[in-house]
Amino acid sequence: MEYLLPIYSSWMLCIPVREKYILMTNILHCQSPEKHPAAENSTDTKTTTVAQGSFVIRESLLSGEKALHASMAFQEGEVLSEIGFRSLVIAPNYLSVQFGEAEHGMLFPAHLEYINHSCSPNVFFDVDARHLRALRTIAPGEELCFFYPSTEWSMNQSFQCNCRADNCLGFIEGAAHLEESVLESYELSNHIKAMKQRNRAA
Ligand SMILES: [Zn+2]
Repeated sequence: MEYLLPIYSSWMLCIPVREKYILMTNILHCQSPEKHPAAENSTDTKTTTVAQGSFVIRESLLSGEKALHASMAFQEGEVLSEIGFRSLVIAPNYLSVQFGEAEHGMLFPAHLEYINHSCSPNVFFDVDARHLRALRTIAPGEELCFFYPSTEWSMNQSFQCNCRADNCLGFIEGAAHLEESVLESYELSNHIKAMKQRNRAA
């Protein structure tokens, strides 16, 4: 399977990325349906089914916030989606995912961009195996969320997390800014492990 699609010219990427950035600056954290039941069936929410019915993009018509939800159950360890990168970016941006020590890309399929951060994630972007994997059982309707520092070393846009997890870390800046004692409780990409090890040795 070809994971890296031909690189688009930078101007083609520039406009949609900027639009999403404006819309999504306040929704960098997951808000699980269990803790926000009103949002689940709100008439102010637009839903779009993607990936042959596996997922639903929920968009708030009030704020423009988007989030990807499972529309079927997944078991722990199950692969939800293969992942690739439709283009590379020179520097990380709000929607890019880091898949190597100096490699950042825009996700393919693009709907995976709507997976927000949580300090208690239910999916893991395994950029080494090139798939999205369930970290625990996921119920239909549950929002998918991953731990940004599991792939991101130093984010260009840090943010105050409001995921409401019991173990919420607060300010999220990337793995470079977290203690190893914190990181070791999460599944991490190989490049994050290598960079942390090098950082420790320095
Ligand atoms: Zn949090």
